[in-house]
Amino acid sequence: MKILPGATLGMLGGGQLGRMFAQAAIRMGYAVVVLDPDPESPAAKVGTRHLRAAYDDPAALDELAKTCAAASVEFENVPAKALERLEERIPTRPDSRGVVVAQNRILEKIFLRDAGLATAPFAPVTSEMELESAWAAVGSPALLKTARLGYDGKGQAAAGSLDEARRAWKAFGGKPCVLEKRVPLDVELSVVLARGADGACAAFPAAENRHQYGILDVTIVPADVPGALAREAEDAAKRIAEKLDYVGVLAVEFFVSDGKLLVNEIAPRPHNSGHYTLDACATSQFEQQVRALCGLPLGDCRLLTPAVMVNLLGDLWPEGGQPAWEAVLANPGAKLHLYGKAAARPGRKMGHFTVLGADRDRALEDALRIQGALRGALQNT
Ligand code: AMP
Repeated sequence: MKILPGATLGMLGGGQLGRMFAQAAIRMGYAVVVLDPDPESPAAKVGTRHLRAAYDDPAALDELAKTCAAASVEFENVPAKALERLEERIPTRPDSRGVVVAQNRILEKIFLRDAGLATAPFAPVTSEMELESAWAAVGSPALLKTARLGYDGKGQAAAGSLDEARRAWKAFGGKPCVLEKRVPLDVELSVVLARGADGACAAFPAAENRHQYGILDVTIVPADVPGALAREAEDAAKRIAEKLDYVGVLAVEFFVSDGKLLVNEIAPRPHNSGHYTLDACATSQFEQQVRALCGLPLGDCRLLTPAVMVNLLGDLWPEGGQPAWEAVLANPGAKLHLYGKAAARPGRKMGHFTVLGADRDRALEDALRIQGALRGALQNT
């Protein structure tokens, strides 16, 4: 069934991903209801209506189902029960299956292994005894990652010895974790794709990602990897979507380690590393989310120009002020996106900018120069 412009769509979660979904949907003629407890929700500020309630509030979920033709979700940590309640009533994309796998690193890694995809060596840890056998299996150096609620490097600790791993596990409150081998990284890649209810799949080109302190810093497209490796990543992402019988936008993060492609993690939603598609592709990842949700044919994923996206974290904000935006805006090829968040905290994603360039190297040079100018201006305040 096709849901056409004029209809109302629901969004579970009100952060920047929900906001950019709402902007895409509203441009196309849909109304958008946002369910989020935060009175300052970035998505609710641009949506048609704000249901201000907890994600698992039954009355709010029922109201969303009553007023919306279909619903989507913008973060994987939404309670699975909330999604199940919605999907009993209206089409909900993605459905709880994909979200449940992505929100638990143990299930995710086992799913990937069963799907025949390579990952960094790992072992689940649910008890102190299991930590010992995991350590013996995985070896040093390792990373201990909480199975749930980890993001942007949070809920992760490096461990160079079993004692360190024990201390980290205790610091995480003895919660279920994954012990993962720290692998050498040649480069990190991600693929964002959309899969329709009819099984049609469309992948955006593989992007190259650079992180700082576990948080995405810069995304570069096209990625500087052999074409065969980029295609392998796109094929792996499609295989994951098919195995999950997934409908919606899905992001897959990869490590390239000693020339070999390893899957790091999956996100059942548009992704920070896909923000470049807003300015550089024929269709953005958010329009694609609208299309997949509404049963419309998927849009063209073609890259129209090389592009570099730079995240703007709260660290760049001077006390009580704004970054030196002229450093971005003076550049004709730079596109500024701010998410309408009032409070700038270190590590908080406040916005991003994308530099479009004639070639990848020029766009990267311009983007890093602008990033340096913003940081320099902050030091001079
Ligand atoms: P994650 O939250 O799992 O995506 O991890 C955040 C970042 O930490 C990744 O993008 C990598 O830069 C780094 N990282 C995570 N796991 C590993 C690993 N097993 N080996 C090397 N680097 C890693």
